[in-house]
Amino acid sequence: MTQKLQSWADVAPRLIAVAAGRDAADLVITGGKLVNVQTREVLEGWQVAIAEGRFAYVGPDASHCIGPDTETIDATGRYLIPGLCDGHMHIESGMLTPAEFAAAVIPHGTTTMFTDPHEIANVLGLEGVRMMHDEALMQPVNIFTQMPSCAPSAPGLETTGFEISAEDVAEAMGWPGIIGLGEMMNFPGVINGDPQMLAEMAATMNAGKTVGGHYASPDKGAAFSAYVAGGAADDHEGTAETDALARVRNGMRSMMRLGSAWYDVESQITAVTERGLDPRNFILCTDDCMAETLVNDGHMNRVVRHAIECGCDPLVALQMAT
Ligand SMILES: [Zn+2]
Repeated sequence: MTQKLQSWADVAPRLIAVAAGRDAADLVITGGKLVNVQTREVLEGWQVAIAEGRFAYVGPDASHCIGPDTETIDATGRYLIPGLCDGHMHIESGMLTPAEFAAAVIPHGTTTMFTDPHEIANVLGLEGVRMMHDEALMQPVNIFTQMPSCAPSAPGLETTGFEISAEDVAEAMGWPGIIGLGEMMNFPGVINGDPQMLAEMAATMNAGKTVGGHYASPDKGAAFSAYVAGGAADDHEGTAETDALARVRNGMRSMMRLGSAWYDVESQITAVTERGLDPRNFILCTDDCMAETLVNDGHMNRVVRHAIECGCDPLVALQMAT
């Protein structure tokens, strides 16, 4: 993985030719057990043919995709799983740049991260966010950037170097790597109808993008309802099963985090493991990982292992991390 993939449209003719047996794949993997997170099943012996860095064929027999120059890998005794995704995180928490963070987590199986560079926004404002965004786009894995919503996070209580405005948010929504608004931490502002917070969320939704949530309060009364009404699609601030239930029952995604300082999976995953709720709206993430954690314990592979230790079906844990 040394360069970004071409668009699907550009490589589709070759993918079709490889799958049809008219062209040879670059790489074929045989002998493994394919974990299909689409169907939540393990497909014994399924094979994968890769061309142009993409899957061309997935099925029981890829022999028609193998030519004289095709590299083959025998994965007997191993499982093939999709690349792991971190649903919410901050690269700066690792004290690393996007390139160095990617280099640290790729060996742990992470291929996608949804990052909110709000720490650099506090220091360098919109220009800093743009630098993180641009470097993210250069990496050989997916680093999707959320535009920070709250710099400072607690207006009036912090003296940040820069502040993010609603105009900044509106501008960033036109950048190629921005996929939404980063965690809306000013939940009192949303609940009380603060014009700047509402303008940031409106700019995001009008651009067809997603508002990330951050409701750090145990109150599940009218305040929570008001926050939900603002349109946040997910929330990772839950710490108890009741928090997870409140979020998914109100149409949000419940993100459960295991970071360097956050241990909120064990206390919430019972919503799935014991109550048997549909796991589709539960997502695993880290929020913050120190470099030491990445080196010693891993990244999303650490979170998946932990979820399994908490009693989660391994296939469900992988679904929640992909
Ligand atoms: Zn966060």
